[in-house]
Amino acid sequence: MAEQVFVALGSNLGDRARHLAEARRLIGALPCTSVAAESAVEDTAPVGPVSQGRYLNQMVLVRTGLAPRELLDALLGIERALGRERGERWGPRTIDLDIVRFGDRVVSEPGLTIPHPELPNRDFWQRELAELAPHGC
Ligand code: AMP
Repeated sequence: MAEQVFVALGSNLGDRARHLAEARRLIGALPCTSVAAESAVEDTAPVGPVSQGRYLNQMVLVRTGLAPRELLDALLGIERALGRERGERWGPRTIDLDIVRFGDRVVSEPGLTIPHPELPNRDFWQRELAELAPHGC
């Protein structure tokens, strides 16, 4: 059965809007997965201690038959495909993809925490979730 998942997209290197668009396209092309709704794109100040450029952020509502770990692995693959190099934590990135919520599931495993632990700290994620809420069912 398909679950409703909220995935956060962020980019602060290169053609940020194009990276978001490519990520949306690649997410929609995953097996048993479709992008049901998109929030507005927001330009936000970077979070954390590293000095870097501003981010474009967006959230998408995804319906997927993938399991949480399968979706995480697929998202990490998309990050790699879009040229993300893992540098310093909190550092600049061509694309960052985070699973914010996965249905009502609570997951706490090595390398995967759902709901995403940064959700309470990120006003823009909360705004984007509220914007997408009417599209959920
Ligand atoms: P970062 O890209 O720096 O935000 O961190 C990515 C790492 O966070 C990934 O390799 C995941 O193993 C881990 N992680 C833990 N929980 C989540 C989640 N809910 N969504 C995405 N990545 C997560």
